[in-house]
Amino acid sequence: MFRCPRKCGQPDCRNLTAPGSRWCPAHVDDNFLTRQRAAYNQQRRKNVPWSNWYNLGWWRRSSKWFLRKPEHAICEWIDSKTGEKCTRAAVLVDHKIPHRGDWNLFANEHNWQGLCTHHHSQKTASEDSGFGNPSKNEEKEVPAQPFKPRVTGV
Ligand SMILES: [Zn+2]
Ligand SMILES: [Zn+2]
Repeated sequence: MFRCPRKCGQPDCRNLTAPGSRWCPAHVDDNFLTRQRAAYNQQRRKNVPWSNWYNLGWWRRSSKWFLRKPEHAICEWIDSKTGEKCTRAAVLVDHKIPHRGDWNLFANEHNWQGLCTHHHSQKTASEDSGFGNPSKNEEKEVPAQPFKPRVTGV
């Protein structure tokens, strides 16, 4: 079906949209909505009282020790669709269940896994979108992410 090309959703951009998109190719990944969301998430992260837990000497030592173990040296991400394991080196300790300020979840090494930067940012992005109470529209904007261990009632 032919549809008249529309103007890109980014203000001041005069390009026409790519088919099926509200953005021109230059603004698909970088537009006022993605920037707004990134700024919002950054602010949320800064305001949380547990943001400095990651600066604790204890955390730095423990996470380094954790990643030195052979079973956590490789990224533990498993693609939920294909079941394939990631083969990159793990560089970050991630919480399987988002701790959201719960010290017991934060400090419990059974809730830790080693991730590569790629999968960590992918996971963080999906968790941030569930942060607080996003509107239905906002949720539609975020592409589906494979990671799904959501704790109910949090
Ligand atoms: Zn544009
Ligand atoms: Zn990975």
